[in-house]
Amino acid sequence: MTNQTTKSQDGQARLEALYEVSSQLGTSLDLSEVLNQVMDAIIQLTGAERGFLMLYDEVNGKLHTEAARNVDQETIEGQTMQISRTVLQRAATTGKGILTSNAQEDERFSTQESVIGFQLRSIMCVPLRARGRIIGAVYVDNRLFSGVFQNDDLELLATFANQAAIAIDNARLFTQTDQALARRVEELSIFQRIDQQLNQSLDLNAVLSSALGWAMRHTTADSGSIGLIEETEEGELVLHLLVDTHSDEDEQRFVPVNHPILAQVLAEKQAVFTQHVSEAQAIDGSPAQVQLCVPILREGQVRGLITLESQTAVAIDEVDKEFVERLADRAAVAIENASLYEKIAAANQSKSEFISIVTHELRLPMTSIKGYTDLIISGMTGELNEQQKQFMEVIKRNLGRMSVLISDLSDINRMESGRMAFEFGTFDIRDTVEDVVDSLRERLDTRNQTLKVDVQPDVTAVYADFRRVNQVLTNLLSNANKYTPDGRQVVIQVLQENGRAQIAVIDSGIGISPENQAKLFTQFFRAEDEAVREQAGWGLGLSIVKKMVEAQGGEIWFKSTLGEGSTFAFTVPSAKIEAAE
Ligand code: ADP
Repeated sequence: MTNQTTKSQDGQARLEALYEVSSQLGTSLDLSEVLNQVMDAIIQLTGAERGFLMLYDEVNGKLHTEAARNVDQETIEGQTMQISRTVLQRAATTGKGILTSNAQEDERFSTQESVIGFQLRSIMCVPLRARGRIIGAVYVDNRLFSGVFQNDDLELLATFANQAAIAIDNARLFTQTDQALARRVEELSIFQRIDQQLNQSLDLNAVLSSALGWAMRHTTADSGSIGLIEETEEGELVLHLLVDTHSDEDEQRFVPVNHPILAQVLAEKQAVFTQHVSEAQAIDGSPAQVQLCVPILREGQVRGLITLESQTAVAIDEVDKEFVERLADRAAVAIENASLYEKIAAANQSKSEFISIVTHELRLPMTSIKGYTDLIISGMTGELNEQQKQFMEVIKRNLGRMSVLISDLSDINRMESGRMAFEFGTFDIRDTVEDVVDSLRERLDTRNQTLKVDVQPDVTAVYADFRRVNQVLTNLLSNANKYTPDGRQVVIQVLQENGRAQIAVIDSGIGISPENQAKLFTQFFRAEDEAVREQAGWGLGLSIVKKMVEAQGGEIWFKSTLGEGSTFAFTVPSAKIEAAE
């Protein structure tokens, strides 16, 4: 190509080609697509017979073949192309383009043994430079008889390589960010599921099993355990393995705190990764290739340990460690909640047993005290003088109070422990109203209170426990009687609404202040008011009533104005009406 015109025409054609292939770059951010575009463009531009492109691996810093044309990976890595790799390596290290038409005679490569004996080739190689550093290099060659590269070929390749490197770098960055983001999103969604599952249960064993399950699935560990630090009866600290894939559920396993690995975790409050785990180092006592021990930390204290083991050295790595650490943080909260709940449940259980024993033991002697008191008062054991009569009445009244307290306490106890039995049946709420009014008539009369009963005619039969509904209404009417001044009116109103009967006790009594209204239905609450304190009561009635109404499928509510009166209303589900035959 000595002719001047041809040369300039040729130059223009090359520039056009360069423009053409360069404009293709940047249309994609997919790394393999960009690499393929670049490789095709290089072959097209240089007319080379074959070529390949290598990039530095960011992790190990080594050059890797990323794309090739008319030559396969095996050949590139083989003996025959050692010279090619050397040339490329040189371009990538020096940052300079290389052009040689005879590698065997080129002193830069002639020392390479492998050059000898191979076909002579014309070689061209340029570095790929982006963001101020070399990211790799491209290599092309031709057999000598089919075409020798010239200097302007090298220039063209170098110009294109500059643009190609930027496109590759962009795609690589994008892929990395994309992958990192995808990893993060995946992790977040996993943790969201973990949180959900962990917080779903207050059963300590279920929480621990689920935490260990997640850790093992995510790390591909072959075995593992999760344990909590506990104090033995002798006051020694141990790690109690509560969930352990090596042992059956009944087997209790404890690891002393002076176990070498456990001691290290306790001292450093950090995860400990052990390789070639000996029997003495293993938390479960059996040797493994790798063991990861991650502390469960709460308020700066090691509360427990997640241990994962594998017989394969590579099964658990640094990324797994970070995952399990994050998992342990989350599990810590759920474990704390579940173990607190377990303690509260145990305390409640003992309280419930205690109350049950006490109420039972008190009932027996009280029955006999009451029997003898009634006997003495009746005069069957001899005439009583006025003072004796008075004293006996005081004893009787107080016995009454005590028996109310005992039956209230035992009701609460049975409701709270779910042992209260309800005998459901169909009955007419009018019968309940009648019964309750009868039993409290005397108390209403004593205070000259008038009682108005208003039962709407459309009220149908209800389905509930007759005795318990009676108890609820008795309680409310008794309160109306106690907290309404003498001579005023009390109304019982029964309506049918939305498939249930609504029973309201409306008084014109002392009312309840807004502040006290917020405390209503809590156990032992009684207003400070003198009018309340002069009435007998323990402040348990309303809390029992609420639980009883709700246990029978009803609701209870109230409205009250201080000094004017209160309305307490509750509902009882109506019995289903059978279709008429
Ligand atoms: P007790 O009547 O034994 O105190 P309750 O649980 O039935 O227990 O009621 C709790 C408190 O609620 C009462 O002490 C009183 O202060 C208030 N209260 C309940 N019913 C009424 C009412 N009808 N009018 C005014 N205050 C009431």
